[in-house]
Amino acid sequence: MNLDQITQQYLQKFPGDFSGSTMQRQTPKLIFSTVEIMKFEHPELLIFNERLSEDIGLGKLGKQEDTDFLNAADVPSNIKTYATAYAGHQFGNWAGQLGDGRAIFAGEIRNKDGKQTEIQWKGAGATPYSRHADGRAVLRSSLREYLMSEAMFHLGVPTTRALSLSLSGEQVVRDMLYDGNAAYEKGAVMTRTSPSFLRFGHFELLSAQGEKQTLQQLADFVIENYFPEIDVDDIDKYALFFQQVAAKTADMIVEWYRVGFVHGVMNTDNMSILGLTIDYGPFSFLDEYHLNFTPNTTDLPGRRYAFGNQAKIAQWNLWQLANALFPLIKDEAKLETILNNFNTLFWKKHDEMMACKFGFDGVQKGDDEFFTNSQQLMQDLEVDYTLFFKQLETYSQSPDVKIHFEEVFYSRPTEEQLQRLKEFLTLYQTRLEKNKRSEADSIKLMKETNPKFILRNYLLFECINELNEGKKELLNKLLEALEHPYEEIYPEFSVKRPSKFDGETGCSTLSCSS
Ligand code: AMP
Ligand code: MG
Repeated sequence: MNLDQITQQYLQKFPGDFSGSTMQRQTPKLIFSTVEIMKFEHPELLIFNERLSEDIGLGKLGKQEDTDFLNAADVPSNIKTYATAYAGHQFGNWAGQLGDGRAIFAGEIRNKDGKQTEIQWKGAGATPYSRHADGRAVLRSSLREYLMSEAMFHLGVPTTRALSLSLSGEQVVRDMLYDGNAAYEKGAVMTRTSPSFLRFGHFELLSAQGEKQTLQQLADFVIENYFPEIDVDDIDKYALFFQQVAAKTADMIVEWYRVGFVHGVMNTDNMSILGLTIDYGPFSFLDEYHLNFTPNTTDLPGRRYAFGNQAKIAQWNLWQLANALFPLIKDEAKLETILNNFNTLFWKKHDEMMACKFGFDGVQKGDDEFFTNSQQLMQDLEVDYTLFFKQLETYSQSPDVKIHFEEVFYSRPTEEQLQRLKEFLTLYQTRLEKNKRSEADSIKLMKETNPKFILRNYLLFECINELNEGKKELLNKLLEALEHPYEEIYPEFSVKRPSKFDGETGCSTLSCSS
């Protein structure tokens, strides 16, 4: 690997603390603090994403030095590792300084096209921002993040990516259910990549501290590096930047709705400034369709981060970013317009996406009502979101609705419910007949839009159990399946969640403990 080509521009460009101290502390006015990784003594590399490594310019795994790097066992002397400071609103409340508590940056690499990618370890030890936690990660949550971020990438959803996963060789104590029963779990460390790991929270922290100059410097840096469409000499550039972040965020949320993804912890510190899905914790794909579903047990009282709330929360988070950027933009009306437009923009994109899911050629008058009705139907009939659309592709060839949709329901439908489904299908058929595209084109569109394979939590749960017993068969199968989500490579994965996993922690609900 080209580890010698990793650079660390933050260290040259921004104010930071070079003491290297891991003492947990506030670091006002600063963007980063240098900190060394743990240097694990007995790690074991489990997965390496060679294709990603080559794409970003890091190259193939070669020397022991490369494995040591991925394992957080050692770093070459040219790499001065650091953690960044950010703040955030958690569950709607200002949480002050947070920061990379268990993420440590190696820096960034450029590929032959000049594309820049940041690399960080997650779980490689404590940093000044660990806030009394250990800076470690367990195999359970690291594997979930590795597989899910890659699954999202192959689905076509904007996301950070996973480069490698290793066992750290350590045991880590976690209270998985927050019920006082702490236990040892296998420790792990992953490396992950992103064009940038900057979050809304980075801007919130500087703004809250009144650090206008550094805030401006950070915004200029982001515009220059990641928003080439914005003219750096434009007097409106910060407002344009905010508008772009809002648009990218809307795109990301629409994609979440397309594949049925629930993030679970949409705090502003978990919102990427580039509109990427970031910080995979107690996430879930929907099995049964429900707008009120939240996978996060911590979120259960208010269901703030439930599936159906995600667009609203994204907008709320953008309000916080607007407040943070206000010193640079100083135009309340402009910011409000962008925020209000978010809603319009989101619903427009959402309906266009839904039209693709149903195989419609664009959005026609009355389609929004059809989409709302379909949501209500899916929810009332407790259908599996992914399987429902799969069966919809072929329903016209099937003589019996009841048999055709049998495997889609989580509880046996009543006669009345079946009747509702039939009426819905009649409406659907009427709408399809208004299509200008052919039936074959319509089905092709549905096949490209609706995944056949989603990485369900019960599959991750089983995979983790097997790995804990040293078995890798399911892991290898999942790694293959997630690369081809619009096909059915392993038909056994294209089924609804088996009932034995109903209510099992880790299968439909999860805690943040990781
Ligand atoms: P999250 O809910 O995972 O986004 O984490 C919120 C904050 O807690 C972030 O600043 C994390 O870096 C920090 N954090 C979470 N788990 C740990 C841990 N095991 N050690 C150190 N910091 C952590
Ligand atoms: Mg986070």
